[in-house]
Amino acid sequence: MASQSRLFQLSGTCNNYPWGKKGRDSLAARLCEKTPGTDFVINDDEYYSEMWFGDYPDFPGRDLETGQTLAEILKEHKEKLLGAYSIENFGNNLPFLPKILSIGKALPLQIHPNKSLAAKLHEKDPEKFSDSNHKPEIAVALSQFELFAGWRDLGQISAIFNIPSLRRFIPEGSHSWNEETLRSVVRGILKADEQTVQNIEEDLKRQSQEDIEKLGYPSSMFELIRRLQSQYSATDPGLLIAILCMNYLVLEPGEAIFIPADGVHCYLSGDIVECMARSNNMLSGGLCPVADRDNIDLFSETLKIDSSTRVDNLRLPANPSKDGASGHTLVYQPPISEFDMIRIEMTAGTEELIWNHKGPTVAIAVSGEGTIRGDGKELAVKTGFIFFIAAETETMLRADTGMRIYAAVIR
Ligand SMILES: [Zn+2]
Repeated sequence: MASQSRLFQLSGTCNNYPWGKKGRDSLAARLCEKTPGTDFVINDDEYYSEMWFGDYPDFPGRDLETGQTLAEILKEHKEKLLGAYSIENFGNNLPFLPKILSIGKALPLQIHPNKSLAAKLHEKDPEKFSDSNHKPEIAVALSQFELFAGWRDLGQISAIFNIPSLRRFIPEGSHSWNEETLRSVVRGILKADEQTVQNIEEDLKRQSQEDIEKLGYPSSMFELIRRLQSQYSATDPGLLIAILCMNYLVLEPGEAIFIPADGVHCYLSGDIVECMARSNNMLSGGLCPVADRDNIDLFSETLKIDSSTRVDNLRLPANPSKDGASGHTLVYQPPISEFDMIRIEMTAGTEELIWNHKGPTVAIAVSGEGTIRGDGKELAVKTGFIFFIAAETETMLRADTGMRIYAAVIR
């Protein structure tokens, strides 16, 4: 048996959630299709939501040459591939899970539980909550990316709740709003009956644009209400939480956001590269079929409402990084230990030596062509190609055209 290489190409696996983009509109599907030698074919009538390319069993990454799953390979060669640091700190799996998402319509309004809640939920219902780990995540825009994330300023939220139809949600005796006022308001909205939700949405649509803007809300609020109503229903309380209480953001390509464990978010449209701690747990509060909504008290109690969920703290800048020797590399550093994300931007004819990292790396080329050298071999890099690079392994990239690569690394 040939010895296990420290650098090899992976294939990813696409899934088909109904919020994905259809057929070739889906970047996730188009990138997935570029990997040669797989039997993946894009069907024009199918929705393609995500391509996963980690070691998670649901939609596994595989060694392109052998077809073996990344999970199986890591099990056999963990010291060589994951390295001592990663094993000691995060165990015998890849500590992170990278994905490409193509979002055609809103995903559920969601949070990913913290470690201690995840452990409890996993013990109680391992089928639904498959992991005892937390799941902070980052999302980097590959196209324009629209989302709701974190909470608006409490002053702004309290002002809009002076609209008569909304006053009923303010807990009695509240003078100035604090974090618990907001929590109570969210719980109240999620528990409101369908007719009440619908009436409030209609009432909001009747407000004047000028009044809404005076309160600090965008004039696009009216369009957003209509869009979410058409994507889900006019009786979905998640719509009101998103519109009234959360930040509405539009990120340009290369801009990123960090969602902490228990941080509220709802992605609306666009293509992104996403990476998260290795977990697949989610609690949803709305913008999904009624049957998919989780327990309202659990959802509202778990919500993180503090300074870390303010918009300024969610935005994740790309800073120049010394991970590459020739200055073509930027880094996104979320405040977690499981991974950072690097972005390598090269012009035709340039080279970039990527220094070795103390843990494993998974990289995807989102545009361009070139080569990658490491562990004594050279592989072609093309748009959509995915690579696993072992801990403590240096690689040399050469770009034949403009080339952009995203990689999850442990620094
Ligand atoms: Zn999420």
